[in-house]
Amino acid sequence: RRRESDAFEHITGRTADGERVDILMNLAAPDDEILSREPIVDGVGLFRTEFLYLGKNKLPDERESYLAYQKVLKTFGHKPVTIRTMDIGGDKCLDCLSLPQETNPFLGLRAIRLCLKDRDLFRVQLRAVLRAGTDGNLQIMLPMISNLEEIIQVKKILSEVKAELAEGGEAFAANPQLGIMIEVPSIALIADLAAEETDFASIGTNDLCQYLMAADRLNPDVVECYQSFHPALFRLIAQVKEAYHLRGKPVSVCGSMAGNPMFAAVLIGLGIRKLSMDVTEVGEMKRFLSLLTTEHAQKLADRVLTLPTAQSVEEYLQEQMELLG
Ligand code: PEP
Ligand code: MG
Repeated sequence: RRRESDAFEHITGRTADGERVDILMNLAAPDDEILSREPIVDGVGLFRTEFLYLGKNKLPDERESYLAYQKVLKTFGHKPVTIRTMDIGGDKCLDCLSLPQETNPFLGLRAIRLCLKDRDLFRVQLRAVLRAGTDGNLQIMLPMISNLEEIIQVKKILSEVKAELAEGGEAFAANPQLGIMIEVPSIALIADLAAEETDFASIGTNDLCQYLMAADRLNPDVVECYQSFHPALFRLIAQVKEAYHLRGKPVSVCGSMAGNPMFAAVLIGLGIRKLSMDVTEVGEMKRFLSLLTTEHAQKLADRVLTLPTAQSVEEYLQEQMELLG
């Protein structure tokens, strides 16, 4: 039985008053079934590349990586495909790479930190990404950025890798947009400076919540502390949005909040116009947005920013959702 929301999958993402909202998909392993959903989204807002590394007994080579990225870029044609460089470490350990034993893996050698330490590993991925970029609309996104030096170091590595590709006579995307995930509070708080160094940002609310609350997103003993409705999280998102939009640069949200209508309503109210989510959530989100006016969303966001506790935010939003039906 088709769900009621399936009928909305093929419409364009718009609020009730006609504001365009880009609806993008989060992607992990690019199998044919998920790629066949390309027509219902405006692009890939988050392509998690870890699938190439996880559960493998050897590291993927450049060719294997290139073919995987190329397949997605070709499928999406002119629509943007945001390839996030590997987010390994934290809870994601590899059989094919020995990582240090850490007391606090989520605060350890994760994602961009690992890539800046193991430059050869990173270069192989960047070569594959840049080469695949000739087949579509590539955007490169860096996970777990916590300071500006990391962005600057990556830019330097990128230009070295490009020079190397050019020297080898390889075709590659010369100038893909470069963006960062905003998922560590330190970079969120200097989003104005980060915006000067990058073309776009995407807010990873799963980790931003974890690091803002100092509550492990996987530890059941602290679920009560992992407060997705905490007013601090909304205030920080508002600040990041302002910083990027002031400089004419786009901000999306790609954490799981983006696919949940109750949160999405607040994000729209805060001025976010790009949401990247699980593809199964797309129909319901488009249906929901078609009922929500930007005026109502702004009212929700204004109120949320003044409420004192996660509980009061949750109760308020639940009550408002009932009004929307
Ligand atoms: C996030 O942290 O919100 C995010 C989208 O990245 P991941 O869930 O892959 O850590
Ligand atoms: Mg994350």
